[in-house]
Amino acid sequence: EGILMALEVKNLVGGYSQIPVLKKVNLDVQPGELVGLIGLNGAGKSTTLNHIIGILRPFSGEITLNGLNLQDNPNEYKKQIAYVPETPILYDELTLREHLELTMNAYQLDHDQAWQRANKLLKTFRLENKLDWFPANFSKGMKQKVMICCAFMTDAKLLIVDEPLYGLDPLAVHDLLNLIAEKKAAGVAVLMSTHVLDTAQRYCDRFVLLANGQVKAHGTLAELRAQADRPDESLDEIYLGLA
Ligand code: ATP
Repeated sequence: EGILMALEVKNLVGGYSQIPVLKKVNLDVQPGELVGLIGLNGAGKSTTLNHIIGILRPFSGEITLNGLNLQDNPNEYKKQIAYVPETPILYDELTLREHLELTMNAYQLDHDQAWQRANKLLKTFRLENKLDWFPANFSKGMKQKVMICCAFMTDAKLLIVDEPLYGLDPLAVHDLLNLIAEKKAAGVAVLMSTHVLDTAQRYCDRFVLLANGQVKAHGTLAELRAQADRPDESLDEIYLGLA
């Protein structure tokens, strides 16, 4: 029997309204795995993630999530993905409670169960007393924490986290990495873009290095070392050699 792939991206060609950015990107993320998406500014990381979550439509190629295809089954597909954007998306007129409820409705979650998970997350990020506040007015890091609470409260099988490691204080980074570990243990697939290579090296199971809209290298740290012929080097040294 083949390996069960949570996410499979095959020959993805894509970009913005006919401006090609990605040239045949291939990647996969298995259940219980954290894959780090790395690459220089403009390499195509966010564009790749925007295709996976369905904001952008592939020019060609295929994206499947546990066998589901976005084109054929958009509602089911989108419920299987939770997304923490690089820049928080919050509504001026909604309270923190209303943001959480909006997410619960979008993912058709049982509210009692979802509130149990939400309350735990809010406590972790010290937001439990701010349910009636308007997060659009929060600090940058607090806004990011709200987005993390919303995404991690769902029961999505794939978590997409776009550069979460900037703007969060060290305690919140530690808490986020623990939450990712809990999700992995529950069989969730996690794809995280980041420039913070020392953290990526310690926590990611595998890496996909993008350069100019193409996968330049992929694999475990050991595989990247072998590929770059640099047996003892750290991820950032390998990256500087390949990117
Ligand atoms: P960074 O590390 O800076 O976040 P990235 O790897 O996420 O970079 P992308 O944001 O995916 O890179 O950008 C890839 C390319 O797509 C860049 O050339 C960028 O100019 C282009 N691009 C990004 N957003 C748009 C857009 N809305 N319209 C047109 N082109 C865009």
